[in-house]
Amino acid sequence: MRKKVVLLGATGSIGSSTLRVLRAHTDRLQLVGVAAQSNGQALAEICREFAVPHAVLNSGDAYRQARQSDEFPGATQLSSGAEGLEALATLAEADIVLIAVVGAAGLRPALAAIEAGKDIALANKELLVLGGAHVMEAARRKGVQLLPTDSEHNAIFQCLQGHPAEQLDKLILTASGGQFRDSPLDTLARVTPDMATQHPNWSMGPKITVDSATMANKGLELIEAHWLFDLEPDRLKVVIHPQSVVHSFVQFIDGSILAQLSPPSMTFAIQHCLLYPERASAVEATTDFTNPFSLDFKAPDYARYPCLRLAYDALNASGAAPAIFNAANEIAVERFLAKEIAYLEIPKLIEHCLTSTENRPSPSLDQLLETDAATRDRARKQTFSS
Ligand code: NDP
Ligand code: MG
Repeated sequence: MRKKVVLLGATGSIGSSTLRVLRAHTDRLQLVGVAAQSNGQALAEICREFAVPHAVLNSGDAYRQARQSDEFPGATQLSSGAEGLEALATLAEADIVLIAVVGAAGLRPALAAIEAGKDIALANKELLVLGGAHVMEAARRKGVQLLPTDSEHNAIFQCLQGHPAEQLDKLILTASGGQFRDSPLDTLARVTPDMATQHPNWSMGPKITVDSATMANKGLELIEAHWLFDLEPDRLKVVIHPQSVVHSFVQFIDGSILAQLSPPSMTFAIQHCLLYPERASAVEATTDFTNPFSLDFKAPDYARYPCLRLAYDALNASGAAPAIFNAANEIAVERFLAKEIAYLEIPKLIEHCLTSTENRPSPSLDQLLETDAATRDRARKQTFSS
């Protein structure tokens, strides 16, 4: 029996790596549903290539345009909007839903998929940062597998297999340090969106590429790790590793440290999740030790990466603070890419939102969504004098 896969975010960077895995394993995996925001043409091509029976274009405009242009194959049932996404995430025939939409928009479809008993491959980290307590509780209650697809968390998940929680000491997340890792600090004020959307090792969507430069990405990943592996902030560490070959470390109480290695391509983690618990040939060559290469590590510096410190603050504050961190960062990146704020104003905007939005100790899902909306509003309005 082939595993039936729903892919939310099919036209993005994770989406295209997933399609490579699906092409290589047609005997084991079948794509039964795909979703995108507005790129109807690319989604229609995917539906044609993989004979996908169900597709969703979240944007109503894009959906209407696609209907008019007849670009989708007749056998594909096309729908739109939040209801369409929810229906796709709960599709009766689906075995696993890979969530690779960007931002907090992934939360509702993820919760719907869990409630419907689907296993989840989780690439989207923002949804855990926003609603981690509720997502983890629902996954436990429904007995579904939450397979971490983010490369660091996938590495940790692999290293933890067979080890009881009481043997675990710390998790050490690796970070490339982004594109400005070695730039003089006084040049960061002049970073433009074009500069911040190029990454030295990874080819990713624009939002996560900016997050990688500021290390807000690693901050989101610390919070993601807190929820996935149930560890307090002081047992979650970050190390800069420019080559992005070691995807993270697990340190045990006896001082032994395990790591997972593979080249900086998401196909390894995606394939691991989709085929789990089985393994099969990789779609590309893995790390090759026949030619010499070096692996470097160094501690991160908060002067260069204030977003990382803010993420630790948010995680320590708990309650709604991680949701505030995430919403403020999403809007800060959006405004930076629109050239409304400067690169160094990204952490300023996050800090402003964290200090001016009221935290709540044990927020309900509705309260978190309220906080998310209020923070976005505040972050859109905030201006800086210089
Ligand atoms: P991209 O921007 O490349 O792609 C986002 C995808 O989601 C596109 O298919 C987009 O459609 C779709 N989309 C966006 N919003 C919605 C929505 N509301 N409803 C339905 N579809 C939507 O992002 P990435 O692939 O880089 O990242 C996706 C997620 O995975 C992020 O949360 C990121 O943090 C995480 N991640 C990414 C990694 C990477 O290597 N790229 C690594 C680890 C984690 P359209 O094309 O129409 O806009
Ligand atoms: Mg990652």
